[in-house]
Amino acid sequence: MDFDVIVIGAGAAGMMCAAQAGQRGRRVLLIDHAHKIGERIRISGGGRCNFTNRVVKPENFISQNPHFTRSALAQFGAADFIELVQRYGIAYHEKTLGQLFCDDSATQIIELLKAECTQGDVQWANPCAVYGAEKTQNGFQIETAQGIFRSHSLVIATGGLAIPQLGASPLGYRIAEQFGLNIIPPQPALVPLAVSPEMLASFGQLAGNSLRVSAQCGANNPHFRENLLFTHRGLSGPAILQVSSYWQNQGYFDLKKQTKKHPITVNLLPDINISNWLQSHRQSNLNLAQLLANEWPKRIAQDWCRLQGWSKPLAEHSNKDIAAMQHALHAWEIMPAGTLGYAKAEVTLGGVDTEALSSKTMESKIVPGLFFIGEVVDVTGWLGGYNFQWAWSSGWVAGQFV
Ligand SMILES: Cc1cc2nc3c(=O)[nH]c(=O)nc-3n(C[C@H](O)[C@H](O)[C@H](O)COP(=O)(O)OP(=O)(O)OC[C@H]3O[C@@H](n4cnc5c(N)ncnc54)[C@H](O)[C@@H]3O)c2cc1C
Repeated sequence: MDFDVIVIGAGAAGMMCAAQAGQRGRRVLLIDHAHKIGERIRISGGGRCNFTNRVVKPENFISQNPHFTRSALAQFGAADFIELVQRYGIAYHEKTLGQLFCDDSATQIIELLKAECTQGDVQWANPCAVYGAEKTQNGFQIETAQGIFRSHSLVIATGGLAIPQLGASPLGYRIAEQFGLNIIPPQPALVPLAVSPEMLASFGQLAGNSLRVSAQCGANNPHFRENLLFTHRGLSGPAILQVSSYWQNQGYFDLKKQTKKHPITVNLLPDINISNWLQSHRQSNLNLAQLLANEWPKRIAQDWCRLQGWSKPLAEHSNKDIAAMQHALHAWEIMPAGTLGYAKAEVTLGGVDTEALSSKTMESKIVPGLFFIGEVVDVTGWLGGYNFQWAWSSGWVAGQFV
């Protein structure tokens, strides 16, 4: 029952860390309460796992400390994981924006990680409920459904709270708090957004239609030039999922103080000079919806213009109206009513405060031997393979130091 290292959570980060530590000759126990290992990997990327991105930089992550990922990414970056995938003969392809997916199945990534663990003689305890962790004189003692395990180092890799039915739990946050580490309040991120009942009444029937847009939340945050999807409950699609993390990052949503949050701004014609486009149609007998139907699905053009109240031919609109059209097309402001929550989120924003961790090793600064890796940490990647890369990078570095 004694080990050098115990890792709690056999997801992406936990398996990577256990394998590395084992291959260094450490005696490792990997505990997970789930029956099936790697479920989050299996369903990722539509079953093909967007396992990393060609280019991964600290700017692709949200964290209270924007530089925290730098060291781990430098020690084990995207190129290192791609090399591992190639070593296992897993065929992959690049989709848009550098996103790398398996050609066949995400289970190949799970098999890769399990094989790496086998190479490191990692022992498994799963399914095995964890009841608690205590500090002992020489390390840690973990009370579980399979008895008490002891180790010198303890790694917490329990992930976030998204998709609770896949075994998400707050255990990692509880252990962090128990040992005096601060938690940045967790919130659903990369999550579809709900809109007001009025907006839904106008757009609800557009569910399933999408537009290529450029979306942003907060003037200093990045723009995401991807698709926006209308849904039965509001908005989704890659552009919205990306900005949802920044919208959430402004803090908790207080219905009574809605205006305190920045709205989302959407450029609805990101590939067009909107001012020139409107001026070129200034004398047109067509209305805006008819003109927009050349650029968008007709249905979206009609409903969007109806919502704005623009139905006359363009030639009959005042200059003030044209300026308002330009503004609305260039920076359509939407204040979401909320998110669809953890049930529909891909990741969790917030988590164990990076202030309390070494960025080089992922070890707690106040409790030697205690490590936090992966999504349980306050590091949230963009959509596009960045969250797995954080799991690989943080798991790998901790594996070198446990
Ligand atoms: C639908 C979906 C699709 C996604 N697609 C992608 C993608 O294509 N690319 C990408 O980069 N990211 C994707 N993500 C995000 C990515 O899956 C996570 O960021 C990543 O899995 C985090 O790795 P982790 O090891 O920190 O946590 P996880 O992979 O979540 O692993 C945590 C492990 O801890 C275990 N655990 C939790 N609580 C306990 C407990 N109390 N006791 C014991 N064990 C416990 C869990 O069972 C789980 O096995 C997706 C997420 C979702 C939900």
